[in-house]
Amino acid sequence: MNGKLRLQYLCNLAKPHAEYLLQRAIGLQRDPDVLQVLRAALSQLNPKPKTDEELAEEMSLKELEKTAAKRSSKPVEQKEVTTKQYSRDPYVSELAKRLANGKCELCGQPAPFRDSKGKPYLETHHVVWLSQGGSDSVDNTVALCPNCHRKMHIVNNPSDVSKLKIVAKNNAL
Ligand SMILES: [Zn+2]
Ligand SMILES: [Zn+2]
Repeated sequence: MNGKLRLQYLCNLAKPHAEYLLQRAIGLQRDPDVLQVLRAALSQLNPKPKTDEELAEEMSLKELEKTAAKRSSKPVEQKEVTTKQYSRDPYVSELAKRLANGKCELCGQPAPFRDSKGKPYLETHHVVWLSQGGSDSVDNTVALCPNCHRKMHIVNNPSDVSKLKIVAKNNAL
């Protein structure tokens, strides 16, 4: 039986049986391409349960109102979060902010407020993220307003990235 036919055959089997056969096939398979197909088939068989965030997104406004009202009487859950943070060079960060001269280096707007010391509030950002191997140096650091900073971490638009790469290179000159 060829691969496609075999997969179709597996998909028509009762789920627990298909799951068993797939797992066995994965255990025996060495070809990485075939393994990928088998794993994909297995994950289709067992889709990940949706998170509350995903379920909430799919609800209509009515359903959301009902669900939220029901849940708001619940005690607030606490979860402990540990995060790994890169320590960044305070001198590089300060220099990037000074060079930005109170303006966001992405949108060009003045910092939205002043900090408790009266300095324009900007945040420093690594154009190539440290987690992606970027360096903590002036030629990879820009100063952004909080909105643009968040935008970079959520969408990291390629056109914004290229713009900021040029800004950071110029800052280092
Ligand atoms: Zn901005
Ligand atoms: Zn950042």
